[in-house]
Amino acid sequence: MALPKLNNVPKYQILVPSLNKKVSVRPFLVKEEKVMLIALESQDPQQIAMAMLDAVTACILDEVDTKKLTGYDIEYLFLQIRAKSVGETTKVLLKCDKCEDQHETEVTIDLSKIEMKGQTDNNEVKITDNIVLEMQHPTFMSMMKNEKAIGFDKTEQAFALIKESVMSVMTDEERIDMNETSHEEFQEFLESMTQEQFGKVREYVEKIPKLTYDVNYECGKCKKKNTVVLEGLQSFL
Ligand SMILES: [Zn+2]
Repeated sequence: MALPKLNNVPKYQILVPSLNKKVSVRPFLVKEEKVMLIALESQDPQQIAMAMLDAVTACILDEVDTKKLTGYDIEYLFLQIRAKSVGETTKVLLKCDKCEDQHETEVTIDLSKIEMKGQTDNNEVKITDNIVLEMQHPTFMSMMKNEKAIGFDKTEQAFALIKESVMSVMTDEERIDMNETSHEEFQEFLESMTQEQFGKVREYVEKIPKLTYDVNYECGKCKKKNTVVLEGLQSFL
């Protein structure tokens, strides 16, 4: 005799930040949690990213091409679906910057209160009178494929994020697609910029929305009040 099917899974509406549109999702089931746990144990950033994308994709009930969603969309969806699956709160350890041994205090985060902060004004960065970079918010997929973007080296991460944010380089005569430009050639192009030109590119990247949560808490040891801004998915896992 076959076991009965358990198909009374609840549905929720969750916002996709870059689309400013809500989609129907179901919570993570045991099968997704299992894949996530195996990926986390591997400590391989690429495998973790892949498991996250797969889990989010499986839980979205509407027609959405998750391969085209931005990095922050997938991170936000992942945390919100997780909140619906295993609980609305998570605990993190925060180091006090007011006492000598940087005492760690356990702080409870309300996942439903995580916000997206940041906004880019326009998608063009003018480098010289006749060179303009066409910019975009990188997709989760492109970040995942770029090993440096999800690696542990902060400088390489920053460069990779810039690489994935530049869609094309436009001159008066042509539009050069970044998909057709090698990593090395792009690196050389970036390194030939003046500080000021590079600053403009970095400014764009810094304004790309990210998960943000403001915390006010009292240190368990020195009792002083701390104000911290948590940013990015890593802060909440
Ligand atoms: Zn303290």
